[in-house]
Amino acid sequence: MGYIEPAPIRDHENPFESMMSRFDIASQTLGLDEEIYNVLKTPAKQVIVSLPVTMDDGSIRVFQGYRVIHSNILGPSKGGIRFDPAVNLDEVKALAAWMTWKCAVVDIPYGGAKGGITCNPREMSAGEVERLVRSYTDAMIEIFGPDRDIPAPDMGTGPREMAWLMDEFSRAHGTTINAVVTGKPIVLGGSLGRAEATGRGVMVSAMVAMEKLKINPYNATCAIQGFGNVGSYTATLMKERGVKIVAISDISGAYYNEKGIDARAAQIYRDANNGLLEGFPDAERIDGNELLTLDVDVLVPAAKEDVINKHNAHDIKAKLIVEGANGPTSFKADKIISDKGILVVPDILANAGGVTVSYFEWVQNRLGYKWTRDRVNRRSDRIIKAAFERVYKTAQKYDVTMRIAAYMVAIDKVAKTYKYRGGF
Ligand code: NAD
Repeated sequence: MGYIEPAPIRDHENPFESMMSRFDIASQTLGLDEEIYNVLKTPAKQVIVSLPVTMDDGSIRVFQGYRVIHSNILGPSKGGIRFDPAVNLDEVKALAAWMTWKCAVVDIPYGGAKGGITCNPREMSAGEVERLVRSYTDAMIEIFGPDRDIPAPDMGTGPREMAWLMDEFSRAHGTTINAVVTGKPIVLGGSLGRAEATGRGVMVSAMVAMEKLKINPYNATCAIQGFGNVGSYTATLMKERGVKIVAISDISGAYYNEKGIDARAAQIYRDANNGLLEGFPDAERIDGNELLTLDVDVLVPAAKEDVINKHNAHDIKAKLIVEGANGPTSFKADKIISDKGILVVPDILANAGGVTVSYFEWVQNRLGYKWTRDRVNRRSDRIIKAAFERVYKTAQKYDVTMRIAAYMVAIDKVAKTYKYRGGF
């Protein structure tokens, strides 16, 4: 097929290109039509806006804002808004495509999108950030909407920014429209269970994978890189199910205890210690990179991208890797890891619990009703388990890794939808 890149393994370790390489392999394995391949490769819409904002000192600064809708064929597009000095159109385009695959693999009725503003929110006052969010929302008033495109938080944004976005959008429409955005504060229509949703999905994926590998959770050990939202909830929930957490880490260092770490105590320690594990007692301090190559049953990278790469993949000893972070394994490491017989539950499946509960937030807002935490958890567990089984079966049927299988499930769903809808 002429549309596949000639070199099967490219000389790069960039997470977004890594994703596109997997997209190429999955498309090829599926035998995807060239026309549909080209449709899926290009974003449906790219919007770039200039956002003048009055700063606290009275000066006016112009920020660059983006929103890319990769696909809205399955439903309204969904994806976070990133505030970071490094935000650029290429990155936003790649992240938007990633959202299309993530929503499709868990079978929720959304397309993929991503937004961003090139700015440094850490150097801005709350007032400046608020004016920037409102300006961005005004610029995107025709793009956003509960039936069109639904933003959420990403790096550098959180419930506070989502509240301002919802307010600005609602003011422009003369009525409260809370379903325009997810990740809101609970009082504005945020969902119970959203905070722990991603870690919970990681735990559920890990438990199902352990069952497939016949690993008894009560005899299993686990190392977790990153102790933020995803890593810390994964740790407490895995521990609740009998898994011994022998190592955790964050930007301050890594902490090891062969007898097991009390994840809840570590969360409490972190919260009382400026959000850091620095000085965490009851554990020996080890090198951060060593955590990844510990002799454990389960490894959960839940910090950042490309941490498992061609330099350390050979040394990984875990039987199972469950990707809490987005893009923690480089494309080059994929083959090394799979040749070693390690099962990888890929990011677009393992960490999709977050977007699943965002979807529930939107559903609840549209129903004008609030679900209990228990209902949210039960329904999201069901979705993650079903997605896992779909991907696992596809991997067996085509004799591919779970990562390629996840892309195949997602691409197949989006491609079929295009075919049925037609209209080219
Ligand atoms: P977070 O900011 O809450 O936590 C990140 C953690 O990683 C922190 O503990 C930080 O200290 C640690 N860290 C950073 N660099 C590290 C390093 N070099 N070594 C060890 N630890 C390091 O972020 P989060 O929301 O938990 O997100 C983590 C990852 O999961 C990201 O890749 C994110 O894109 C992905 N993710 C998050 C969600 C979500 O709902 N929060 C959903 C899907 C995917």
